[in-house]
Amino acid sequence: MNYQIDENGFYGNYGGAYIPEILYKTVENLKEAYLPIIESEEFKQEFHTLLRDYVGRPSPLYLAKRMSEKYGCRLYLKREDLNHTGAHKINNSLGQILIAKKMGKTRIIAETGAGQHGVATATACALMNMPCTVYMGALDVERQRPNVERMKMLGATVVPVHSGNKTLKDATNEAIRDWCCHPADTFYIIGSTVGPHPYPDMVARLQSVISEEIREQLTEKEGRDYPDYLMACVGGGSNAAGTIFHYIEDERVKIVLAEAGGLGLDSDKTAASLEIGTDGILHGSRIKLMQTEDGQIIEPYSISAGLDYPGTGPLHCNLYVTGRAQVLAVNDDEALTAAFELTRMEGIIPALESAHILAALPKMQFQPDDVVVLTVSGRGDKDLETYLKHMND
Ligand SMILES: *Cc1c(COP(=O)(O)O)cnc(C)c1O
Repeated sequence: MNYQIDENGFYGNYGGAYIPEILYKTVENLKEAYLPIIESEEFKQEFHTLLRDYVGRPSPLYLAKRMSEKYGCRLYLKREDLNHTGAHKINNSLGQILIAKKMGKTRIIAETGAGQHGVATATACALMNMPCTVYMGALDVERQRPNVERMKMLGATVVPVHSGNKTLKDATNEAIRDWCCHPADTFYIIGSTVGPHPYPDMVARLQSVISEEIREQLTEKEGRDYPDYLMACVGGGSNAAGTIFHYIEDERVKIVLAEAGGLGLDSDKTAASLEIGTDGILHGSRIKLMQTEDGQIIEPYSISAGLDYPGTGPLHCNLYVTGRAQVLAVNDDEALTAAFELTRMEGIIPALESAHILAALPKMQFQPDDVVVLTVSGRGDKDLETYLKHMND
């Protein structure tokens, strides 16, 4: 089985670059530039210095003792929640802005749903003194007020998008439209392993610092550099891609991913695009997506804004159809229960997105000496209101 990307940007049947003619040259330039930049000593030096001194990496690998006992394994939490701005997204935004600068771009645009990627990108832009425009669905602007205010304080222009359902998909369409109008000077920082090639591969590489650290940290703590299980939640797929990057070919390592079941797979309120999606093209890439028979996107639903996307990145679609990754749909109520459990047993309030993979733990059957690494993709401060509302459920 081959899980790696081919020269045309496909993982098996998924991926590629389905883009309007006007972006062809821009995307082609990026395709030629990104690998030599990422692999250059100068980039590595700059990126890793920022990850260490600005983001606060390496993020700890924490042996969760009480949870380990409960689930009968050695459960390590990869603490992306401790990063600057509260999640893994900053790794990607900093990496892409460095690439943008090396390519001579002078203006940054981004899309955002919950606002986490918008905040991470606005942060990177403040740091690098670059103008930043963030497209955000008008409904999300209403729902995610604190993140909108953070972006504004950081100096970004937030553009509410009133088309379609006024959520992430529509914001992405609008960002692509902007990019089409300014292809020469503008760099589009995409927030996950989605979009046309080379974005999924570029984002996976920028997030691969997560699995690089896991390898070193496990060697130190367990005397071997691989776990038995890697577990992560999947929206577009970036924290999961970072978690598994160096282990994709290592069949000793089982991969477990959680997507958002919403109110359930057989309800019409779900975001479980791997399980219920069909093949189609969205935002430049062939992926599994939630669509009607005539190709209209079905509006996704999840209690967690960060998992509320109608598709999943091409890498993960291929891991799913090849059976390399086990994929579980986790419903809202299960995620809420899991968030309270981690909070009460380990004193860590996870992001609602991360709670989805925590909720996979009771569905697993581990051996007592199994080493399990679960990525806590972000912290729960942004979700407190939701948590408090469900405190006594
Ligand atoms: C955005 C986000 C996610 C989902 O995005 P991926 O690209 O699938 O990682 C998960 N967790 C947190 C905390 C997020 O902010």
